[in-house]
Amino acid sequence: MFDLRDLYQQVIVDHNKSPRNFGKLDACSHEADGYNPLCGDKLHVYLQLSDAGIVEDVAFEGEGCAISIASASLMTEAIKGKPVADFEALFRDFQHMVTSDLAEQPDDERLGKLAVLGGVREFPSRIKCATLCWHTMRSAVQGSHNTPAKTE
Ligand code: ZN
Repeated sequence: MFDLRDLYQQVIVDHNKSPRNFGKLDACSHEADGYNPLCGDKLHVYLQLSDAGIVEDVAFEGEGCAISIASASLMTEAIKGKPVADFEALFRDFQHMVTSDLAEQPDDERLGKLAVLGGVREFPSRIKCATLCWHTMRSAVQGSHNTPAKTE
């Protein structure tokens, strides 16, 4: 077990305790399931895209560790109201951050609050907890409803 105090910075504690955009979207154009077998995190994401490709609304449900829930909460905040093309770019930046060398400072100008999740690099086994929501959202965007997104 790792020391929770080192990793669960205030933002993570807060977003785990009261996750933003948590719940169901009654009207959604895309949705997907995601599962991280290493930790047991399960997410379901809902996405409402406008005809112009703007993320009009986004929500998630699920059960998982604090990192998976906080990451999903932060992700929904980050992409709501943005063009869906920005999602892919942000996913790439996020993926880069959590797999980069610890000495590299997260680019908080591009990542905003998501940069706090750079802390997972100290705990490689938790990286998939942080990326699960992104993989799940990508499979929702790509419309592959039938195959749950997996981190493995
Ligand atoms: Zn987890």
